[in-house]
Amino acid sequence: MSPLTYPMVIGNHRPPVNPDRALEVRSPLSGDLLGLVSDATPAEVHDAVSAAQHGFDETWRYATGSQRAQLMHRLADLIDMHADELGGLETADNGKLLRETTMQARFAARNYRFFAGIADKLTGRTIPMDNLSTFDYTLREPVGVAALITAWNSPMQLLANKLAPALAAGNCVVVKPSELAPRSTIRLAELIEEAGFPPGVFNVITGGHQAGAALTADARLGLISFTGSVATGQAIAATAAKNLVPVTLELGGKSPNIIFDDANLDRAVIGAVAGIFAASGQTCIAGSRLLVQSNVYDEVVEHVTERARTIRVGDPALDTTQMGPAANMAQHKRILSMIEVGLSSGAKLACGGGAVRDPELPDGLFIEPTVFVDVDPASRIAQEEIFGPVLSIIRFDTEADAISIANGTEFGLAAGIWTESLSRAHRVARELLAGMVWVNTYRSSAAQAPFGGVKKSGYGRERGLEAIDPYLRTKNVMVDLSDSVRDPFSIQT
Ligand code: NAD
Repeated sequence: MSPLTYPMVIGNHRPPVNPDRALEVRSPLSGDLLGLVSDATPAEVHDAVSAAQHGFDETWRYATGSQRAQLMHRLADLIDMHADELGGLETADNGKLLRETTMQARFAARNYRFFAGIADKLTGRTIPMDNLSTFDYTLREPVGVAALITAWNSPMQLLANKLAPALAAGNCVVVKPSELAPRSTIRLAELIEEAGFPPGVFNVITGGHQAGAALTADARLGLISFTGSVATGQAIAATAAKNLVPVTLELGGKSPNIIFDDANLDRAVIGAVAGIFAASGQTCIAGSRLLVQSNVYDEVVEHVTERARTIRVGDPALDTTQMGPAANMAQHKRILSMIEVGLSSGAKLACGGGAVRDPELPDGLFIEPTVFVDVDPASRIAQEEIFGPVLSIIRFDTEADAISIANGTEFGLAAGIWTESLSRAHRVARELLAGMVWVNTYRSSAAQAPFGGVKKSGYGRERGLEAIDPYLRTKNVMVDLSDSVRDPFSIQT
């Protein structure tokens, strides 16, 4: 039987996938072929941007905020109705637990509703002038065509972070999901059509770095919004600079989860486990460095390790499973090689340390939940993003030490603080170089709360009111009400 194909969406067209030039989507659980997608040519990428530009010029720029909001609410309803299906596609593609991918679909729907609420409230300002015979006001206008590029770990949710503000602001988009997990985005295109969005508003191209590079080199773009690795983010920013196209970047992390000796340790241990082993550590916000104060260090290490050892690894579609496989072969290799780096550098292994060898999971890309203890904060496993279920536990003595270690990487995405002291919580939150700080929780998210990083974790914010800003341009309109004839050689104030 020939494999299923998932065509791109370019305006009204869905160009058939050419099997001779197609990319394979494979299951990380079984290695089975799940489908074929096109590897977009530069000409197809160009056509997709043209379709988006056409959609913007001909229809979408004339849609009112309330019309856009109505369509977005319909889309959110459709996503909720199809959450199980969308979650199933994502779990099959990237091995994330089905209960998490289904929840992420519903979270995406919430995002569309949040930004639908903003779509008809994008007001400019009237500006009081020094000269009373001048009337000045601003318009907030869409940037036109936005390129939205996402990673494989949470395609629907990452896309919602970008697409919801893009649509609310009145932009058309060209989306490029990861070639490793593209199917939920292609299915979403059908729901977008069903919701009633005009053709050209939502275009999808598939492919890898060549398709992505062709897209980001297009000078017609008004914005590039990217989620992925630091190296790709840097390449995109450099390309975009040539055309002076603005960019927002959501990149990697090496986030510290800090347990102080006055913390509720039962909650803190669960927070530490959730921080690194949920989604097999394949999240940008993974709490991959656990910083523990000396006088509770041994107790925390014991409980975290005990909990890690009993994590049920297996089929991500089963309710009983707690950790699925690595999402793809390249990721599997990279995680194992970083575990080797830890072992060869002399870091002390408390549990895990390799691939799962289970006769019932013969072909899955499973990795043991792995904990290194007494890790040197300057070592590679404490500095580099592993993007897998590998925790580095680091000891600290004072609050100042914790802050210094926490801030001592090139990243600055998220951080967790576990303490019962109100003043310490707020004091440390201020000092941390991170875009997001959690206190007595970890990996919590909301459509209203801004998400993003500092340093090499990127720039720009997604979700929350701030997220709309990159998708809009401010135009100033200045009107002379005086009817007088002015001196042409002096500036008018
Ligand atoms: P990646 O950078 O390899 O790929 C991301 C996307 O960029 C994919 O769609 C890919 O095809 C595309 N791409 C690759 N080369 C390109 C190029 N030259 N020009 C344009 N596009 C190109 O990242 P990945 O392996 O898919 O994802 C893992 C990384 O993503 C991790 O570093 C992780 O921390 C990061 N991430 C960040 C966040 C966040 O919100 N901060 C969320 C999830 C993942």
